Amino acid sequence: MKLKHIKLTNPYLELPELCYNRVEPTPLKKPFLIHANQEVADMLGIDISDREVLTSFVNGELKLEGSDSFAMCYAGHQFGHFVPRLGDGRAINIGTVNDFHLQLKGAGQTLYSRSGDGRAVLRSSIREYLMSEAMYGLGIETTRALAIIGSEHSVYRQTWEKGSIVLRVSPSWVRFGTFEYFAHSKNFKELEALADYAIEECYPHLSIENDKYLHFFTEVMGKTARLMAEWQVVGFNHGVMNTDNMSVLGVTIDYGPFAFLDDYDTNFICNHTDQYGRYSFGNQPIIGEWNLKALALALEPLVRKERLEKILSHYGRLYSRHFLYLMGRKLGLDEVSDRDFDFIKQMLGMLQSLHVDYTLFFRTLSHYSGDRRELLKLGLLHTPMNEWLDEYDNYLKKNRTEEDERHRSMLNVNPKYVLKNYMLQEAIEEGENGSFSKLEALFNIAQNPYDEHKEFERWAGATPDIFKNQKLSCSS
Ligand code: AMP
Ligand code: MG
Repeated sequence: MKLKHIKLTNPYLELPELCYNRVEPTPLKKPFLIHANQEVADMLGIDISDREVLTSFVNGELKLEGSDSFAMCYAGHQFGHFVPRLGDGRAINIGTVNDFHLQLKGAGQTLYSRSGDGRAVLRSSIREYLMSEAMYGLGIETTRALAIIGSEHSVYRQTWEKGSIVLRVSPSWVRFGTFEYFAHSKNFKELEALADYAIEECYPHLSIENDKYLHFFTEVMGKTARLMAEWQVVGFNHGVMNTDNMSVLGVTIDYGPFAFLDDYDTNFICNHTDQYGRYSFGNQPIIGEWNLKALALALEPLVRKERLEKILSHYGRLYSRHFLYLMGRKLGLDEVSDRDFDFIKQMLGMLQSLHVDYTLFFRTLSHYSGDRRELLKLGLLHTPMNEWLDEYDNYLKKNRTEEDERHRSMLNVNPKYVLKNYMLQEAIEEGENGSFSKLEALFNIAQNPYDEHKEFERWAGATPDIFKNQKLSCSS
Protein backbone atom coordinates (compact mmCIF):
# COMPACT_ATOMS: atom_id res chain seq x y z
CA MET A 1 0.00 0.00 0.00
CA LYS A 2 1.23 3.50 -0.76
CA LEU A 3 2.82 5.13 2.26
CA LYS A 4 0.40 8.03 2.39
CA HIS A 5 -2.53 5.61 2.65
CA ILE A 6 -1.11 3.55 5.49
CA LYS A 7 -3.11 3.46 8.71
CA LEU A 8 -1.16 3.43 11.94
CA THR A 9 -2.19 1.82 15.19
CA ASN A 10 -0.81 2.55 18.66
CA PRO A 11 -1.17 -0.46 20.94
CA TYR A 12 1.23 0.99 23.50
CA LEU A 13 -1.15 3.86 24.16
CA GLU A 14 -3.61 1.40 25.66
CA LEU A 15 -1.29 1.12 28.64
CA PRO A 16 -1.77 3.40 31.67
CA GLU A 17 -0.72 6.99 31.07
CA LEU A 18 2.39 6.78 33.25
CA CYS A 19 3.95 4.56 30.58
CA TYR A 20 4.37 7.26 27.95
CA ASN A 21 4.03 10.91 27.09
CA ARG A 22 2.46 12.21 23.91
CA VAL A 23 4.75 14.41 21.86
CA GLU A 24 4.92 15.70 18.31
CA PRO A 25 8.14 15.35 16.33
CA THR A 26 10.02 18.59 15.62
CA PRO A 27 11.02 18.38 11.94
CA LEU A 28 14.51 19.14 10.70
CA LYS A 29 15.18 22.04 8.35
CA LYS A 30 15.68 21.20 4.68
CA PRO A 31 15.49 17.42 4.98
CA PHE A 32 16.70 15.15 2.21
CA LEU A 33 16.52 11.41 1.82
CA ILE A 34 19.87 9.64 2.13
CA HIS A 35 18.81 6.04 1.83
CA ALA A 36 15.79 3.77 2.14
CA ASN A 37 15.68 0.07 2.87
CA GLN A 38 13.44 -1.67 0.35
CA GLU A 39 13.50 -4.94 2.30
CA VAL A 40 12.15 -3.23 5.39
CA ALA A 41 9.52 -1.45 3.30
CA ASP A 42 8.43 -4.85 1.97
CA MET A 43 8.42 -6.30 5.47
CA LEU A 44 6.11 -3.49 6.57
CA GLY A 45 4.03 -3.74 3.41
CA ILE A 46 4.62 -0.10 2.50
CA ASP A 47 5.18 1.24 -1.01
CA ILE A 48 7.87 3.90 -0.59
CA SER A 49 8.36 4.74 -4.28
CA ASP A 50 7.31 8.37 -3.69
CA ARG A 51 10.53 9.62 -2.11
CA GLU A 52 9.14 13.05 -1.25
CA VAL A 53 6.37 11.50 0.77
CA LEU A 54 8.88 9.19 2.47
CA THR A 55 11.18 12.09 3.34
CA SER A 56 8.37 14.07 4.86
CA PHE A 57 7.23 11.00 6.83
CA VAL A 58 10.70 10.36 8.26
CA ASN A 59 10.96 14.05 9.10
CA GLY A 60 7.80 13.80 11.18
CA GLU A 61 5.88 16.21 8.93
CA LEU A 62 3.52 13.85 7.17
CA LYS A 63 0.84 12.63 9.56
CA LEU A 64 -0.82 9.39 8.54
CA GLU A 65 -4.26 8.22 9.57
CA GLY A 66 -4.20 7.02 13.17
CA SER A 67 -1.08 9.03 13.96
CA ASP A 68 -0.69 9.67 17.70
CA SER A 69 2.97 10.04 18.56
CA PHE A 70 4.57 9.52 21.96
CA ALA A 71 7.76 8.86 23.88
CA MET A 72 8.10 5.84 26.18
CA CYS A 73 8.99 6.17 29.82
CA TYR A 74 11.64 3.94 31.36
CA ALA A 75 14.38 3.84 33.97
CA GLY A 76 17.66 1.97 33.88
CA HIS A 77 20.93 1.01 35.46
CA GLN A 78 23.59 3.06 33.75
CA PHE A 79 27.07 1.66 34.42
CA GLY A 80 25.63 -0.12 37.44
CA HIS A 81 23.91 2.94 38.95
CA PHE A 82 20.16 3.18 39.02
CA VAL A 83 18.62 6.18 37.30
CA PRO A 84 14.93 6.37 38.27
CA ARG A 85 13.76 8.05 35.10
CA LEU A 86 15.24 8.01 31.61
CA GLY A 87 12.78 7.43 28.76
CA ASP A 88 12.90 8.12 25.04
CA GLY A 89 14.87 11.35 25.08
CA ARG A 90 15.36 11.47 21.37
CA ALA A 91 13.15 8.78 19.96
CA ILE A 92 9.51 9.40 19.12
CA ASN A 93 7.13 6.52 18.44
CA ILE A 94 4.92 7.31 15.49
CA GLY A 95 2.81 4.17 15.23
CA THR A 96 2.64 0.49 14.43
CA VAL A 97 2.43 -1.18 11.03
CA ASN A 98 2.28 -4.92 10.51
CA ASP A 99 3.28 -5.49 14.17
CA PHE A 100 6.42 -3.39 13.77
CA HIS A 101 6.68 -0.28 15.92
CA LEU A 102 8.10 2.75 14.13
CA GLN A 103 10.34 5.24 15.87
CA LEU A 104 11.95 8.45 14.68
CA LYS A 105 15.36 8.75 16.30
CA GLY A 106 16.51 12.36 16.39
CA ALA A 107 13.12 14.04 15.87
CA GLY A 108 13.38 16.50 18.75
CA GLN A 109 12.85 16.79 22.46
CA THR A 110 10.43 14.85 24.60
CA LEU A 111 9.47 14.97 28.25
CA TYR A 112 12.40 12.61 28.87
CA SER A 113 15.12 14.58 27.09
CA ARG A 114 16.55 15.95 30.33
CA SER A 115 19.26 18.38 29.16
CA GLY A 116 19.56 16.76 25.71
CA ASP A 117 18.43 18.36 22.48
CA GLY A 118 16.53 15.31 21.22
CA ARG A 119 18.64 15.24 18.10
CA ALA A 120 20.92 12.75 16.38
CA VAL A 121 23.84 13.86 14.23
CA LEU A 122 24.55 12.47 10.80
CA ARG A 123 27.48 10.31 11.89
CA SER A 124 25.52 8.55 14.62
CA SER A 125 22.53 8.02 12.31
CA ILE A 126 24.71 6.54 9.57
CA ARG A 127 26.23 4.19 12.15
CA GLU A 128 22.87 2.97 13.42
CA TYR A 129 21.36 2.72 9.94
CA LEU A 130 24.18 0.59 8.56
CA MET A 131 24.98 -1.41 11.64
CA SER A 132 21.47 -2.56 12.39
CA GLU A 133 21.24 -3.87 8.83
CA ALA A 134 24.64 -5.53 9.16
CA MET A 135 23.50 -7.37 12.27
CA TYR A 136 20.39 -8.45 10.45
CA GLY A 137 22.53 -9.65 7.54
CA LEU A 138 24.56 -11.71 10.00
CA GLY A 139 21.41 -13.34 11.32
CA ILE A 140 21.56 -11.62 14.71
CA GLU A 141 18.37 -10.38 16.33
CA THR A 142 18.17 -6.63 15.91
CA THR A 143 16.04 -3.60 15.21
CA ARG A 144 16.20 -2.39 11.61
CA ALA A 145 15.64 0.91 9.83
CA LEU A 146 13.33 1.96 7.03
CA ALA A 147 15.17 5.09 6.02
CA ILE A 148 17.66 7.78 6.97
CA ILE A 149 17.40 11.47 6.20
CA GLY A 150 19.95 14.29 6.42
CA SER A 151 19.26 17.99 6.77
CA GLU A 152 20.66 21.50 6.98
CA HIS A 153 19.69 21.63 10.64
CA SER A 154 22.63 22.57 12.86
CA VAL A 155 23.17 20.45 15.97
CA TYR A 156 25.93 21.14 18.48
CA ARG A 157 28.24 18.29 19.64
CA GLN A 158 31.56 19.89 20.60
CA THR A 159 31.33 21.43 17.15
CA TRP A 160 28.45 22.20 14.80
CA GLU A 161 27.17 19.17 12.94
CA LYS A 162 24.10 18.36 10.89
CA GLY A 163 20.95 16.78 12.28
CA SER A 164 19.62 13.57 10.87
CA ILE A 165 16.76 11.15 11.58
CA VAL A 166 16.62 7.39 11.28
CA LEU A 167 13.22 5.77 11.10
CA ARG A 168 13.86 2.56 12.98
CA VAL A 169 11.53 -0.35 13.50
CA SER A 170 11.25 -3.14 16.02
CA PRO A 171 8.68 -5.77 16.99
CA SER A 172 9.17 -4.39 20.52
CA TRP A 173 10.77 -1.39 22.19
CA VAL A 174 10.15 -2.60 25.72
CA ARG A 175 13.37 -2.57 27.72
CA PHE A 176 14.49 -4.11 31.00
CA GLY A 177 14.48 -0.51 32.21
CA THR A 178 10.80 -0.10 31.36
CA PHE A 179 10.00 -2.68 34.04
CA GLU A 180 12.46 -1.11 36.44
CA TYR A 181 10.70 2.23 36.18
CA PHE A 182 7.40 0.92 37.50
CA ALA A 183 8.89 -1.44 40.06
CA HIS A 184 11.14 1.16 41.63
CA SER A 185 8.42 3.84 41.65
CA LYS A 186 6.09 1.23 43.20
CA ASN A 187 3.49 1.62 40.47
CA PHE A 188 2.56 -2.05 40.58
CA LYS A 189 -0.66 -1.72 38.62
CA GLU A 190 1.31 -0.28 35.72
CA LEU A 191 3.99 -2.92 36.19
CA GLU A 192 1.45 -5.67 35.76
CA ALA A 193 -0.16 -3.96 32.76
CA LEU A 194 3.28 -3.61 31.18
CA ALA A 195 4.05 -7.28 31.79
CA ASP A 196 0.78 -8.28 30.13
CA TYR A 197 1.54 -5.96 27.25
CA ALA A 198 5.08 -7.29 26.79
CA ILE A 199 3.81 -10.88 26.86
CA GLU A 200 1.23 -10.07 24.20
CA GLU A 201 3.84 -8.29 22.07
CA CYS A 202 6.81 -10.61 22.47
CA TYR A 203 5.59 -13.99 23.72
CA PRO A 204 1.86 -14.25 22.95
CA HIS A 205 1.90 -18.03 23.50
CA LEU A 206 2.36 -17.31 27.23
CA SER A 207 -0.76 -15.27 27.73
CA ILE A 208 -2.86 -18.29 28.71
CA GLU A 209 -0.27 -19.78 31.05
CA ASN A 210 -0.88 -19.81 34.79
CA ASP A 211 2.60 -18.70 35.66
CA LYS A 212 2.89 -16.31 32.76
CA TYR A 213 5.16 -13.77 34.47
CA LEU A 214 7.62 -16.43 35.50
CA HIS A 215 7.55 -17.88 31.99
CA PHE A 216 8.04 -14.40 30.61
CA PHE A 217 11.24 -14.05 32.60
CA THR A 218 12.36 -17.49 31.43
CA GLU A 219 11.85 -16.45 27.81
CA VAL A 220 13.69 -13.15 28.26
CA MET A 221 16.55 -15.00 29.89
CA GLY A 222 16.72 -17.50 27.05
CA LYS A 223 16.69 -14.79 24.39
CA THR A 224 19.29 -12.73 26.23
CA ALA A 225 21.60 -15.72 26.63
CA ARG A 226 21.32 -16.41 22.93
CA LEU A 227 21.92 -12.78 21.96
CA MET A 228 25.02 -12.61 24.16
CA ALA A 229 26.37 -15.77 22.51
CA GLU A 230 25.67 -14.32 19.07
CA TRP A 231 27.54 -11.12 19.92
CA GLN A 232 30.50 -13.06 21.31
CA VAL A 233 30.94 -15.41 18.40
CA VAL A 234 30.65 -12.68 15.78
CA GLY A 235 32.95 -10.33 17.73
CA PHE A 236 30.49 -7.51 18.40
CA ASN A 237 31.03 -5.11 21.29
CA HIS A 238 27.83 -3.17 22.06
CA GLY A 239 29.47 -0.64 24.34
CA VAL A 240 26.53 0.59 26.45
CA MET A 241 24.81 -2.40 27.98
CA ASN A 242 22.80 -0.35 30.44
CA THR A 243 19.51 -1.99 31.38
CA ASP A 244 17.65 0.67 29.40
CA ASN A 245 19.43 -0.60 26.30
CA MET A 246 18.37 -4.23 26.83
CA SER A 247 15.32 -5.45 24.96
CA VAL A 248 12.90 -7.90 26.60
CA LEU A 249 12.61 -9.50 23.18
CA GLY A 250 16.37 -10.11 23.08
CA VAL A 251 17.06 -7.94 20.06
CA THR A 252 20.08 -5.67 19.70
CA ILE A 253 18.87 -2.11 20.32
CA ASP A 254 20.28 1.40 20.67
CA TYR A 255 23.40 1.42 18.56
CA GLY A 256 25.92 3.85 20.03
CA PRO A 257 29.69 3.48 20.38
CA PHE A 258 29.64 -0.20 19.27
CA ALA A 259 32.50 -1.90 17.45
CA PHE A 260 33.37 -5.13 15.76
CA LEU A 261 36.63 -6.55 17.00
CA ASP A 262 39.71 -5.87 14.94
CA ASP A 263 42.40 -8.17 16.36
CA TYR A 264 40.82 -10.56 18.83
CA ASP A 265 40.99 -8.99 22.27
CA THR A 266 38.73 -10.10 25.07
CA ASN A 267 39.58 -6.93 27.00
CA PHE A 268 38.62 -4.58 24.21
CA ILE A 269 36.49 -1.59 25.26
CA CYS A 270 34.79 0.36 22.48
CA ASN A 271 33.15 2.99 24.65
CA HIS A 272 35.40 5.91 25.48
CA THR A 273 33.52 6.74 28.69
CA ASP A 274 33.73 3.16 29.97
CA GLN A 275 36.89 3.77 31.98
CA TYR A 276 36.91 0.47 33.86
CA GLY A 277 35.71 -1.76 31.06
CA ARG A 278 32.38 -2.71 32.57
CA TYR A 279 31.11 -3.21 29.02
CA SER A 280 34.30 -4.63 27.54
CA PHE A 281 33.91 -7.33 24.93
CA GLY A 282 34.70 -10.20 27.29
CA ASN A 283 32.34 -8.92 30.00
CA GLN A 284 29.23 -8.91 27.85
CA PRO A 285 27.84 -12.34 28.82
CA ILE A 286 28.26 -11.60 32.54
CA ILE A 287 26.68 -8.19 32.13
CA GLY A 288 23.79 -9.87 30.34
CA GLU A 289 23.28 -11.88 33.52
CA TRP A 290 23.69 -8.83 35.75
CA ASN A 291 21.03 -7.04 33.72
CA LEU A 292 18.71 -10.04 33.99
CA LYS A 293 19.13 -9.85 37.76
CA ALA A 294 17.98 -6.25 37.61
CA LEU A 295 14.97 -7.33 35.57
CA ALA A 296 14.23 -10.14 38.02
CA LEU A 297 14.28 -7.63 40.87
CA ALA A 298 11.78 -5.49 38.97
CA LEU A 299 9.51 -8.51 38.51
CA GLU A 300 9.48 -9.45 42.18
CA PRO A 301 6.12 -7.78 42.83
CA LEU A 302 4.70 -10.24 40.27
CA VAL A 303 6.70 -13.42 40.89
CA ARG A 304 8.28 -14.92 44.01
CA LYS A 305 11.95 -14.02 44.28
CA GLU A 306 13.14 -17.61 44.77
CA ARG A 307 11.45 -18.72 41.59
CA LEU A 308 13.09 -15.97 39.56
CA GLU A 309 16.45 -16.80 41.12
CA LYS A 310 16.06 -20.43 40.24
CA ILE A 311 15.40 -19.58 36.60
CA LEU A 312 18.34 -17.21 36.52
CA SER A 313 20.64 -19.90 37.86
CA HIS A 314 20.35 -21.59 34.45
CA TYR A 315 21.72 -18.59 32.56
CA GLY A 316 25.37 -19.65 32.47
CA ARG A 317 24.59 -23.11 31.21
CA LEU A 318 22.21 -21.78 28.59
CA TYR A 319 24.70 -19.18 27.41
CA SER A 320 27.44 -21.81 27.13
CA ARG A 321 25.20 -24.09 25.13
CA HIS A 322 24.47 -21.36 22.57
CA PHE A 323 28.08 -20.29 22.47
CA LEU A 324 29.32 -23.82 21.94
CA TYR A 325 26.80 -24.52 19.20
CA LEU A 326 27.62 -21.31 17.32
CA MET A 327 31.38 -21.79 17.71
CA GLY A 328 31.08 -25.35 16.49
CA ARG A 329 29.43 -24.07 13.33
CA LYS A 330 32.14 -21.46 12.81
CA LEU A 331 34.76 -24.15 13.15
CA GLY A 332 32.91 -26.46 10.77
CA LEU A 333 32.66 -29.25 13.34
CA ASP A 334 29.87 -31.81 13.19
CA GLU A 335 29.71 -32.15 16.92
CA VAL A 336 30.83 -30.17 19.91
CA SER A 337 30.36 -30.83 23.59
CA ASP A 338 31.37 -29.29 26.89
CA ARG A 339 34.66 -31.15 26.62
CA ASP A 340 35.60 -28.94 23.67
CA PHE A 341 35.66 -25.71 25.65
CA ASP A 342 39.39 -26.10 26.29
CA PHE A 343 40.03 -26.37 22.58
CA ILE A 344 38.01 -23.18 21.93
CA LYS A 345 39.77 -21.41 24.79
CA GLN A 346 43.11 -22.44 23.33
CA MET A 347 42.05 -20.92 20.02
CA LEU A 348 40.93 -17.64 21.57
CA GLY A 349 44.10 -17.43 23.63
CA MET A 350 46.16 -18.03 20.51
CA LEU A 351 44.25 -15.33 18.57
CA GLN A 352 44.69 -12.90 21.43
CA SER A 353 48.41 -13.48 21.89
CA LEU A 354 49.14 -13.37 18.15
CA HIS A 355 46.97 -10.28 17.53
CA VAL A 356 45.00 -11.98 14.80
CA ASP A 357 42.10 -10.23 13.09
CA TYR A 358 39.08 -12.13 14.37
CA THR A 359 36.88 -12.01 11.26
CA LEU A 360 39.73 -12.69 8.87
CA PHE A 361 40.84 -15.70 10.89
CA PHE A 362 37.52 -17.51 10.56
CA ARG A 363 37.13 -16.59 6.92
CA THR A 364 40.60 -17.92 6.17
CA LEU A 365 39.91 -21.04 8.22
CA SER A 366 36.80 -21.59 6.10
CA HIS A 367 39.10 -22.34 3.14
CA TYR A 368 41.53 -24.51 5.11
CA SER A 369 42.36 -27.92 3.75
CA GLY A 370 45.72 -28.73 5.25
CA ASP A 371 47.86 -25.99 3.71
CA ARG A 372 48.62 -23.69 6.64
CA ARG A 373 50.41 -20.86 4.88
CA GLU A 374 47.50 -18.37 4.71
CA LEU A 375 46.65 -18.94 8.36
CA LEU A 376 50.24 -18.65 9.54
CA LYS A 377 50.49 -15.29 7.79
CA LEU A 378 47.83 -13.88 10.12
CA GLY A 379 49.94 -13.97 13.29
CA LEU A 380 53.40 -12.89 14.29
CA LEU A 381 54.54 -16.27 15.58
CA HIS A 382 53.95 -19.66 14.02
CA THR A 383 54.18 -22.04 16.96
CA PRO A 384 50.88 -21.24 18.77
CA MET A 385 48.95 -21.32 15.50
CA ASN A 386 50.60 -24.60 14.47
CA GLU A 387 49.87 -26.17 17.84
CA TRP A 388 46.24 -25.20 17.63
CA LEU A 389 45.98 -26.38 14.01
CA ASP A 390 47.42 -29.76 15.03
CA GLU A 391 44.47 -30.09 17.39
CA TYR A 392 42.09 -28.79 14.75
CA ASP A 393 43.33 -31.40 12.29
CA ASN A 394 42.47 -34.08 14.84
CA TYR A 395 38.98 -32.68 15.14
CA LEU A 396 38.56 -32.61 11.37
CA LYS A 397 39.58 -36.26 11.15
CA LYS A 398 36.57 -37.11 13.31
CA ASN A 399 34.22 -35.05 11.10
CA ARG A 400 31.93 -37.00 8.80
CA THR A 401 31.15 -33.97 6.62
CA GLU A 402 33.12 -33.89 3.36
CA GLU A 403 35.69 -31.15 3.07
CA ASP A 404 33.86 -29.30 0.26
CA GLU A 405 30.68 -29.31 2.25
CA ARG A 406 32.49 -28.07 5.35
CA HIS A 407 34.02 -25.21 3.38
CA ARG A 408 30.61 -24.27 2.00
CA SER A 409 28.89 -24.24 5.36
CA MET A 410 31.75 -22.38 7.06
CA LEU A 411 31.70 -19.71 4.35
CA ASN A 412 28.01 -19.24 5.13
CA VAL A 413 28.56 -18.57 8.82
CA ASN A 414 31.95 -16.81 8.79
CA PRO A 415 31.39 -13.43 7.16
CA LYS A 416 33.90 -12.08 4.73
CA TYR A 417 32.91 -8.58 5.84
CA VAL A 418 31.82 -7.04 9.09
CA LEU A 419 31.30 -3.29 9.29
CA LYS A 420 34.30 -2.18 11.26
CA ASN A 421 34.34 1.34 12.58
CA TYR A 422 36.97 2.59 10.16
CA MET A 423 34.74 1.50 7.27
CA LEU A 424 31.75 3.30 8.75
CA GLN A 425 33.99 6.31 9.26
CA GLU A 426 34.76 6.37 5.54
CA ALA A 427 31.04 6.46 4.76
CA ILE A 428 30.52 9.17 7.40
CA GLU A 429 33.27 11.42 6.06
CA GLU A 430 31.94 11.08 2.55
CA GLY A 431 28.39 11.68 3.80
CA GLU A 432 29.40 14.82 5.66
CA ASN A 433 30.60 16.11 2.30
CA GLY A 434 27.24 15.35 0.74
CA SER A 435 27.91 12.09 -1.05
CA PHE A 436 26.70 8.65 -0.09
CA SER A 437 28.24 6.11 -2.44
CA LYS A 438 30.19 4.42 0.37
CA LEU A 439 27.07 4.23 2.49
CA GLU A 440 25.37 2.50 -0.42
CA ALA A 441 28.32 0.10 -0.82
CA LEU A 442 28.41 -0.72 2.89
CA PHE A 443 24.66 -1.21 2.91
CA ASN A 444 25.00 -3.87 0.21
CA ILE A 445 27.84 -5.52 2.08
CA ALA A 446 25.77 -5.36 5.28
CA GLN A 447 22.94 -7.26 3.64
CA ASN A 448 25.26 -9.86 2.07
CA PRO A 449 28.25 -10.26 4.39
CA TYR A 450 29.09 -13.78 3.22
CA ASP A 451 29.41 -12.84 -0.45
CA GLU A 452 32.79 -12.17 -2.04
CA HIS A 453 32.22 -8.58 -3.26
CA LYS A 454 35.57 -8.65 -5.09
CA GLU A 455 35.47 -4.87 -5.65
CA PHE A 456 35.62 -4.25 -1.89
CA GLU A 457 38.42 -6.70 -1.11
CA ARG A 458 40.39 -4.07 0.82
CA TRP A 459 37.66 -4.06 3.49
CA ALA A 460 38.00 -7.81 3.96
CA GLY A 461 41.56 -7.69 5.29
CA ALA A 462 42.82 -7.01 8.78
CA THR A 463 42.02 -3.51 10.01
CA PRO A 464 44.82 -1.09 9.08
CA ASP A 465 47.02 -0.53 12.16
CA ILE A 466 46.17 3.17 12.53
CA PHE A 467 42.47 2.36 12.87
CA LYS A 468 42.73 -0.58 15.25
CA ASN A 469 41.04 -0.66 18.64
CA GLN A 470 39.74 2.88 18.59
CA LYS A 471 37.25 4.00 21.19
CA LEU A 472 34.15 6.03 20.45
CA SER A 473 32.15 8.50 22.48
CA CYS A 474 28.56 7.95 23.60
CA SER A 475 27.31 10.46 21.03
CA SER A 476 28.56 8.17 18.27
P1 AMP B 1 21.71 5.77 25.25
O1 AMP B 1 22.52 5.10 26.30
O2 AMP B 1 22.47 6.44 24.17
O3 AMP B 1 20.70 4.83 24.65
O4 AMP B 1 20.90 6.99 25.95
C1 AMP B 1 20.61 7.08 27.32
C2 AMP B 1 19.50 8.06 27.59
O5 AMP B 1 19.85 9.38 27.16
C3 AMP B 1 18.21 7.72 26.88
O6 AMP B 1 17.15 8.05 27.75
C4 AMP B 1 18.23 8.65 25.68
O7 AMP B 1 16.95 8.90 25.19
C5 AMP B 1 18.90 9.88 26.24
N1 AMP B 1 19.57 10.70 25.21
C6 AMP B 1 20.71 10.39 24.53
N2 AMP B 1 21.03 11.38 23.67
C7 AMP B 1 20.07 12.35 23.79
C8 AMP B 1 19.84 13.62 23.18
N3 AMP B 1 20.65 14.12 22.27
N4 AMP B 1 18.76 14.32 23.59
C9 AMP B 1 17.94 13.84 24.51
N5 AMP B 1 18.09 12.67 25.14
C10 AMP B 1 19.15 11.92 24.79
MG1 MG C 1 19.23 3.96 24.93
